[in-house]
Amino acid sequence: MLTPVQMFYDLLGQGLPAPGAGPDKVFQSVTDNDAEACVFCGQVRPSGIQLNEGVPWRKALPPTFNDSDDMGEGGFWCDMCRTASLGAVLPLTGNVLISGTEIVRFASADKEGLPAPVRTFSPHDIPKLMLNPPEPPFAWVLKTFLRTKAEHVIWKAKVSLSRDVFFVQAGGRSLYVDRESLARSLLLLRELLDSDLITPPTVKSRKGLFHSMFKGYFNLPKWARDVPAFVESWFAAMDDVPPEIKYLLQNVYPYVWAEFVSEGDRCEMTTNPKSGASAT
Ligand SMILES: [Zn+2]
Repeated sequence: MLTPVQMFYDLLGQGLPAPGAGPDKVFQSVTDNDAEACVFCGQVRPSGIQLNEGVPWRKALPPTFNDSDDMGEGGFWCDMCRTASLGAVLPLTGNVLISGTEIVRFASADKEGLPAPVRTFSPHDIPKLMLNPPEPPFAWVLKTFLRTKAEHVIWKAKVSLSRDVFFVQAGGRSLYVDRESLARSLLLLRELLDSDLITPPTVKSRKGLFHSMFKGYFNLPKWARDVPAFVESWFAAMDDVPPEIKYLLQNVYPYVWAEFVSEGDRCEMTTNPKSGASAT
């Protein structure tokens, strides 16, 4: 089974730091594991660390770790997942779209010295890439842009095998994105914004669309004057929008507003040679 952690490693090879030994009283090192699955990625990998008998995971993980509910059974933590959670590696696993050939990292500023398969894209490119995702397989993790507190979530992401329906790991939530539905919803959102019925919040405020609607960003005099059938139909249409897409719309809204996005707006990742091979 292909996992996001495996894809990450396939691209970066041995260039990543080694995780080192765990604290003695809590873990023992394992170098020849051939049976136990990692509690995070679910894979059986040769090396990692094993919880000592009788030590609970809550003693081994920081108190801020709030994803225990999704961990598997057992006490083995593979070295790949340990490396992916190292502080030095987190900038490469937190807000990323990993394809077969490159890792796109979403950040407002470029960072020097990143290894070649890593490119930095603006958060404003998130909606564009959702409408034009790379060739599968790919894995998408967004820990901060979708208003979430979870930090170490790459191991939870699902690998997507389709450009039309795919997964986005938004912190602790796994969103199932129907691209056509997202495109339709973005169009509706654009019509609403173009209609001058609302006064948009600033991009900086990062307020969600629905938050802004109910917190007075509406242009109320115009609303009262027109009693717009348009907005009624917009709400009616939104009733048909799946909850995952609504969640995405609320959160990508600041970026959509900054630069309207439609299906014609493209943002390219490099072509994946693996998918080309499987098509022949
Ligand atoms: Zn693992």
